[in-house]
Order: sequence, then C-alpha cells, then structure tokens
Amino acid sequence: MRTHDRLRIAIQKSGRLSDPARDLLARAGLSFRESRDRLFCYGESLPIDLLLVRDDDIPGLIAEGVCDLGVVGQNVLAEQAAEREAAGQDEAYQIVRSLGFGRCRLSVAVPNEWEWSGNARLDGTRIATSYPNLLTRWLREQGIAAEAVVLSGSVEIAPRLGKAESICDLVSSGATLQANQLKEVAVILESEAVLAGPAKPFADVRADLASMLLRRLDGVLSVKA
Ligand code: ATP
Ligand code: ZN
Repeated sequence: MRTHDRLRIAIQKSGRLSDPARDLLARAGLSFRESRDRLFCYGESLPIDLLLVRDDDIPGLIAEGVCDLGVVGQNVLAEQAAEREAAGQDEAYQIVRSLGFGRCRLSVAVPNEWEWSGNARLDGTRIATSYPNLLTRWLREQGIAAEAVVLSGSVEIAPRLGKAESICDLVSSGATLQANQLKEVAVILESEAVLAGPAKPFADVRADLASMLLRRLDGVLSVKA
C-alpha cells in the first residue's frame, strides 16, 4: 500500500495528450525527476508525482485508487463510466476540470455514397467502434436497431473489409474519414481532455494537495481562455 501523503496523477505516456498535459502541469509550477524506466516522475517542487500510462488505463487506475487524478479524454472516461453503469457498478469518477485541449468528437460516419435520410438508415446495420458502451447507449436512446461491432483499432477501414457498414469513431479534422470515403452523420459525444478524479472526495492530506493544484491550474487555464 502506498502512503497518502503525496498526490499521484496519471497522464498519457505517449500520444496526443502527453505534451499538453505535461505542459499544463509545468505551467502550474510542478517539476519532476523522471525514473529510469520512464514510467514514474517524482515531484520535486511539490509532493505531486506522475504515472505515465496508456490513456485507456487511466479511469481504471483512478477507480482502483492506484492514482488520485488523471488527465484523460472525456471520450475514454465516458466509455468506461458507461461500461461500469451497464455492469451495475457504482460511479467511480468525476470530471474535476475541463482542460481545453484534445478536442474531438465521437461520431457516426457512413459511406459517402449513402443517401442520408436520418438515423433510421442505420436500422439493421452493423457499426464498427472502439466505444461499444457509448454507441449502444446512443442507439438505445435514438431507438435504432443496429449492432455495435467492437474493434480496438483501425475502425475506419471496417466498412471496406466488410466487417460493418458504418463506423462510430473519434473525429477532429475529418481528414481520416475523407481518406476512407466516409461522411459524418451524427455526433454522439463532444470531447476534450479533462482532469478526472474519484467520485468520493479525499479524506487526507491529498485533499489539500488537490485544492492547491486546482488553484494553480485555474490560474493557468484562465490565462489561456
Ligand atoms: P495510448 O497508447 O495511450 O492508448 P491512443 O492511441 O489511444 O494512445 P491517442 O491517439 O494519443 O491515443 O489519443 C488520445 C486522446 O486524444 C483520445 O482519446 C482523444 O481524447 C484525443 N483526441 C483528440 N483528437 C483526436 C483524434 N482526431 N483522434 C483520436 N483521438 C483524438
Ligand atoms: Zn488509448
């Protein structure tokens, strides 16, 4: 068991959110000494350490209490929250702050040649996605009888492979969709990077560390806005 006299924040080790997350923390006055395996960064200026992980692992690390906070896309957090809800588990996370970077949307995209008359066009079709819980919830809300086909990556090529007729994936510029002859027809979730924490507040010195961190982050975020 680790002691709870230091705060531990999980961030993406390498990917779209890594540099902006490290940048934000640096601007909030945090400095770190990196371990040799580059998985852990020891906080030098404050008792706040970093764990460098895959973004998909961040909600679980918070739920298990391995980390106290995490910088993660709302898309990842919402998918894992929806998965917990579908399994009848308690709410484990809350969004502590929206961070203003990593903006994208989770959208349904269909082949360019489809005539789009509305969501009913999806009835009886298969939709490839890495976000089955968010997609299934949306399909239910919209009253669409479509099947979610789960793929962990390269979702955009699924229609060409005949695995599904359409996709539900992250979009920012739309260039990937265009390159795969797909068009966006519905937005399921607007997303940006967030600072996420556990649903329950900290009951030890981590509460003070977290509120100090938030004061500093708010200072940085208000300058940026
Ligand atoms: P990891 O190895 O950590 O699992 P990854 O491949 O899942 O990495 P990235 O592609 O680096 O993750 O994306 C991280 C996050 O960046 C996404 O979950 C999303 O919140 C955000 N993002 C912003 N724009 C896009 C985009 N166009 N495509 C994918 N993700 C985007
Ligand atoms: Zn990932």
